Amino acid sequence: MTGYKENKEIHIDPIEAFEDNYIWLIRNDQNCIIIDPGIAAPVIACLERRNLKLIAILITHHHADHIGGVLELQEKYPHIKIFAPQKDKYNFVNIGLKNGDEINIPELQINYKIIEIPGHTQGHIAYYDMKNLFCGDTLFACGCGRIFDGTHEQMYDSLKKISNLPLDTKIYCAHEYTKKNIAFALSLNPNDMNLKQRNKSISNFKITIPSLLEEELKTNPFLNCSSLEAFKKLRDLKDQY
Ligand SMILES: [Zn+2]
Repeated sequence: MTGYKENKEIHIDPIEAFEDNYIWLIRNDQNCIIIDPGIAAPVIACLERRNLKLIAILITHHHADHIGGVLELQEKYPHIKIFAPQKDKYNFVNIGLKNGDEINIPELQINYKIIEIPGHTQGHIAYYDMKNLFCGDTLFACGCGRIFDGTHEQMYDSLKKISNLPLDTKIYCAHEYTKKNIAFALSLNPNDMNLKQRNKSISNFKITIPSLLEEELKTNPFLNCSSLEAFKKLRDLKDQY
């Protein structure tokens, strides 16, 4: 895949769902795709309000708060394509994706490369257009996802994989956990200047996503573990926090 092509007609907006989920909407003036619709109603409302045609749904992993709206959307918009991790089983028709696959959305002139990032779940994937990374519940702003049906080792390796992307990669995770995550990180390192600065810079914002990979590398404790053992310990601490 060639480099990122700046496309000024493309906008990326969050559709807020449940308590703290983001369903990402990638759109131009007419067409759009969405990522991880855990519920259909706010998506339908958004499409109707903006008069957008839904082209495709992209799924990062199988949890209900990421796929709960798919069947209803598929029924309402039967022409749409649905992309999902090949390793998972779904109760809707989908195109299975694995590491290194590429998908093309001609209506938006966007290509995504698929990166497998297991750990939160076994089949978890990310969508990467060489600039923006949609990484579901793997890397959060100043945190990372819990380990469900994946393993700590997988998550550790997946976070390393993400860390190796360009520093100006924009990280679009699927939950607004940033303030809680920074509070946890500060509880470990109360005098960390970068963390204090980050805490201050987001304090007036309700929506703090996307973040820059560069900022995550400076402040996210899960990207700065010296070993798998250290990562496991940190993940356990966070689970009990
Ligand atoms: Zn999840």
